[in-house]
Amino acid sequence: MVMKEETFDNFNFSDEVLDEIQQNIQSIIENFDVPEDNKLDVIRKINFMYTKTKELSITDALTGLFNRRHFENTADREFLRAVRYKNDLTFAIVDIDFFKHINDTYGHLCGDKILKEVAFLLNDSFRKTDIVFRYGGEEFVIILTETNAQSAQIPLERLREKVEKNNFKFKNQELKVTISVGYASNLDDCEDATELFAFADEALYYAKEHGRNQIKNYIKE
Ligand code: GH3
Ligand code: MG
Ligand code: MG
Repeated sequence: MVMKEETFDNFNFSDEVLDEIQQNIQSIIENFDVPEDNKLDVIRKINFMYTKTKELSITDALTGLFNRRHFENTADREFLRAVRYKNDLTFAIVDIDFFKHINDTYGHLCGDKILKEVAFLLNDSFRKTDIVFRYGGEEFVIILTETNAQSAQIPLERLREKVEKNNFKFKNQELKVTISVGYASNLDDCEDATELFAFADEALYYAKEHGRNQIKNYIKE
């Protein structure tokens, strides 16, 4: 997707390039002057460090969900796959309502706890083939593979209800939270993943404008 920031801190290698680097590390170690009886151990340790680093690079520390970087790589791939095999595909964006107010009233630790609980409810609401990401602050994205708008509505509405009914607990208080959701499915109208995401974002904007605590499908005008 084209929303990447090309800074040194936020370098963005594709998974394929990272895998190639790993293979190269292996061959460097094999040719390096490591004593024969240590070689396997060194390779194992470097592979472990590499796997951990790769895991961390695609994980959001607070919620344990995949992060935005991973969304950007995955979104392009799933879009191309759906077009190629003529599969359905839905992108959904979830945004917590009035989250700033929650932080301002109960503090950031409370906000963080709510983010973790919403992440848990998200993980619990979709098929194993769907992928959930924390996109940014209080925004999450779900890629629903092989799912059209009509089928996407069911788990998204179920998620909205689950969040609405949940009693979020912080210290001795119980809090209520709602979410708004925008989703888009029609690949025929889209050039690429960025455009499908923009359509879902438009639908989210509409949900916010029309009272929040609701899910909205993108409909072409
Ligand atoms: P809306 O219903 O229109 O979405 O209103 P909102 O208040 O949710 O939206 P807004 O974009 O104004 O505020 C989002 C807030 O999310 C602002 C920021 O304080 C909070 N936030 C972002 N990241 C984090 C985080 O990691 N932890 C906590 N506690 N708060 C965060
Ligand atoms: Mg937001
Ligand atoms: Mg919000």
